[in-house]
Amino acid sequence: MKISEVGEFGLISRIADKFGNLTPDGWDGIGDDCAVIPLDSERSMVVTTDMLIEDVHFLRSRISAWELGRKALTVNLSDIAAMGATAQATFLSLGLPSDLEVDWCDAFFEGYRSLGVPLLGGDTTSSQTGIVINITVIGECPTRNIKRRRDAQIGDYVVVTSALGDSAVGLQLMLSDSPKTDCTQSDCDELIAIHHNPRPFLKQGPWLGNQPAVHSMMDVSDGLASDLGHILRSSKCGATIDLDAIPVSDIARQVAGQMGWNITTMAVTGGEDYALLLTVAPDDFQRLEAEYYAAFGEKLYIVGLITDATDGDYNISWSGKHYDSTDNNRLKGFRHF
Ligand code: ADP
Ligand code: MG
Repeated sequence: MKISEVGEFGLISRIADKFGNLTPDGWDGIGDDCAVIPLDSERSMVVTTDMLIEDVHFLRSRISAWELGRKALTVNLSDIAAMGATAQATFLSLGLPSDLEVDWCDAFFEGYRSLGVPLLGGDTTSSQTGIVINITVIGECPTRNIKRRRDAQIGDYVVVTSALGDSAVGLQLMLSDSPKTDCTQSDCDELIAIHHNPRPFLKQGPWLGNQPAVHSMMDVSDGLASDLGHILRSSKCGATIDLDAIPVSDIARQVAGQMGWNITTMAVTGGEDYALLLTVAPDDFQRLEAEYYAAFGEKLYIVGLITDATDGDYNISWSGKHYDSTDNNRLKGFRHF
């Protein structure tokens, strides 16, 4: 059997099955944005690691070294924030082609350093297959603040912290060879820049972690459709999502319209927005939203509801004016295999 037949998550669940019983009681291993290791009776350490491979995750000719250094770390910091924690330290391992310019590396390190989190170690090797980047980040927070994927409750609102789809439209613009005569160059540049320099919710994550009304949380890296699926399977729930309620920025809507792309599909299935996706007790939402706005000057967006998984399928049921059931196949997130 080939990996493509079991898929990324099929393979990960084989690993989890083999290693789960080695995980000490009270620790969380595979299955969330970070592993959780209790430090003492009050605090826990959270750990995440992510790999970026040239030509799979990025094209060297399209992203600057500075942007890549910043983005590679950003995606890891986003996983720490998604647990409700704050990053403390990072480790960086690099596989590099021997003909890579040292100036490129220096710019990469500057981008990485721009996020201001300590780099305490790593590993460096040569690579014959392009640039390989692996980053590990350690974070910390009060144990009671940790938000997991498995704690969504029936009746919770499904909430995101920002518009979705900017990054997907930016990526599509970057990859598209068709002339972009219909959209303003500055709009296109702005969306491509968002794709290359995503904005993680580093302060908002720990703030939301401190809110008991937030039951579960993760970051949107593979697209809402795929990522909400993780919350649903972990929490053994279903969800209804209103496609008309998905927040989309004016600029993404406009450019996608000009290019003839379906912005709703891009917002729901496109990855790399790094918004936080959370489920919230409905009675507390109004207060939470007002306090969040007071703290950050930004809105929280309700996109749907956690429901009972009556059929045991943990599926998302889509609704909205423009939804038709033939859309189901399109409404899936990014898959590696
Ligand atoms: P995220 O998108 O938040 O980084 P992933 O979808 O990459 O999360 O991973 C899901 C879970 O599977 C995480 O808990 C991660 O640590 C775990 N995981 C992924 N690959 C492996 C692997 N090769 N070995 C062990 N655990 C893995
Ligand atoms: Mg994540």
